[in-house]
Amino acid sequence: MKAIVIGSGISGLTAAAYLVRAGHSVIVYEQYEEIGGVTATLRRDGFGWDLGPLLLEGFGPGEPAGEILAELGLDDRVRTVPDDRGAVFPDFSFWKPAEYAGPYWRREHLKRLFPEEGEGLDRYYRFYDRMMDLMALARRAERARGLRALLLKAWMFLLFQRVRGLADWNAEQLMRHFFRRPEIRAVYTAILADFVVRPSQFPALAIPAVNSEIAFDRRIPLRTSRAGPRLSFRYILGGCGRMVEAMAELIRSCGGQIWAGAPVARILLENGRAAGVALADGHQERADVVIASGGARETFFGLVGRQHLPADFAARVEDVPLEESVLMVHLGVDFDLTPYQLSALCYYYNTYDVEGAVGRCQRGEYHEGRDGFLIYIPSLHSPELAPPGHHAVTVYTIAPNWLSEGTWADRREELAEKLLAEAERVIPGLRARARVRVVFTPEDFRRRTHQEHHSFGGCAPVMGKAGIPHRTPIPGLWFIGSQSQSGGGVTNVMTGASRTAQMILRASGMRS
Ligand SMILES: Cc1cc2nc3c(=O)[nH]c(=O)nc-3n(C[C@H](O)[C@H](O)[C@H](O)COP(=O)(O)OP(=O)(O)OC[C@H]3O[C@@H](n4cnc5c(N)ncnc54)[C@H](O)[C@@H]3O)c2cc1C
Repeated sequence: MKAIVIGSGISGLTAAAYLVRAGHSVIVYEQYEEIGGVTATLRRDGFGWDLGPLLLEGFGPGEPAGEILAELGLDDRVRTVPDDRGAVFPDFSFWKPAEYAGPYWRREHLKRLFPEEGEGLDRYYRFYDRMMDLMALARRAERARGLRALLLKAWMFLLFQRVRGLADWNAEQLMRHFFRRPEIRAVYTAILADFVVRPSQFPALAIPAVNSEIAFDRRIPLRTSRAGPRLSFRYILGGCGRMVEAMAELIRSCGGQIWAGAPVARILLENGRAAGVALADGHQERADVVIASGGARETFFGLVGRQHLPADFAARVEDVPLEESVLMVHLGVDFDLTPYQLSALCYYYNTYDVEGAVGRCQRGEYHEGRDGFLIYIPSLHSPELAPPGHHAVTVYTIAPNWLSEGTWADRREELAEKLLAEAERVIPGLRARARVRVVFTPEDFRRRTHQEHHSFGGCAPVMGKAGIPHRTPIPGLWFIGSQSQSGGGVTNVMTGASRTAQMILRASGMRS
């Protein structure tokens, strides 16, 4: 079988790696001049910064992405380290205590700050544990077979009855159910700003999934319940680009080809079936299977053509909810950052009005860093990302694709300066001590990902909406990546790509 993969992000590379290892002929086409999509690590003057993902969930041994690396034989090459992060709000912050204080120290901290919310906090954490157990059971059930799978599903069913009444609620309703104070509601919904989704759009039942306590303290045991282990949070040592390099080497060593600077302009159809691709330079390549990653609209309306799609499928493509983008400034600085930030990553939130702040971003109003940002210092876990005595640091925040006033091209430096001025409230001297500076605007992300509307995390997690199924209505054409049914996030897109590769292998009568 010959397969063409469109896009060399981590989803495309994962699918290509599975197929090439199973003995198939694979060509990956990447439109940008470097491979890796948003999992690439940028390098400049001895510094390195990740373009996208930070602290990753699910990369530990036996966890979903960790398993994929092990199956591909890359677990020795892609080394990870468990870690945690901080969160700072206007009136309080969460940094893990110097001495381990149990799995619920954040709850206790909040009770001390807001004693009147004690009962609500206890109820929230009971709900949290149930949801975390349900997710652990779902992961186990997926791998189990026969009677064991049935028993796990029965257990899930019983547990689900305890939260079923909240299934139609949104996160805003959930927060009002548990808490009176906007400060506490913001603690559990501020992360939704990362998805540029308002609490009123986000499913209540998914709140625990995006607020794992383990993200704030790596010492919390993963096995706290009989339902199964929870997932760890890890950094890839040396940056996410290490995983891109390891996968690319694997693909090439098995005879696969990866072409960068090779935009696919069209997916060729023959008798309604995907038959190959045409590149922007006119070259045509035939294949039995085409696997596309990237934007759903760009793929199906741009590369395939709306006229070739069933109407209901075209409507589904139209309906994929998109997030906004980010403004990112990478700096190489010549001083020690450890006195200013206790861990490699911290989110700084300057507002408790998550609904309002995200709504403004969705409408194109950029907050100029005033509503919040994050600071990530990858050289703290991977010293090779900066020369000795220096640090690589990234400051970024969510930002609309198109500004309501002016353009990113015109306002690039002005808005980078404003974001850094906000970050200097945390780390003074960032600008003066920067030896290297790389600004990435939403426009740069659009160019890098080939998306007309860059969606930072892919298909937005909005209630009642979904990404595009991996198996498309066009025979021979498969869709993976952050706008597919797997949703965004590194672990999700890797899992979706691995599943898709297995489906293709089964369909072709082969086994991986
Ligand atoms: C700033 C940022 C921070 C993030 N933080 C996290 C995090 O902390 N944790 C987490 O889990 N996830 C995070 N994510 C999300 C995660 O990184 C993505 O969901 C995931 O990496 C997407 O992988 P992908 O392969 O679907 O897409 P991409 O990496 O975008 O790859 C798609 C590739 O396809 C190429 N392409 C598109 N169209 C064509 C064409 N016509 N021809 C040829 N090539 C084409 C693009 O150029 C691109 O390289 C973050 C993302 C960003 C941007």
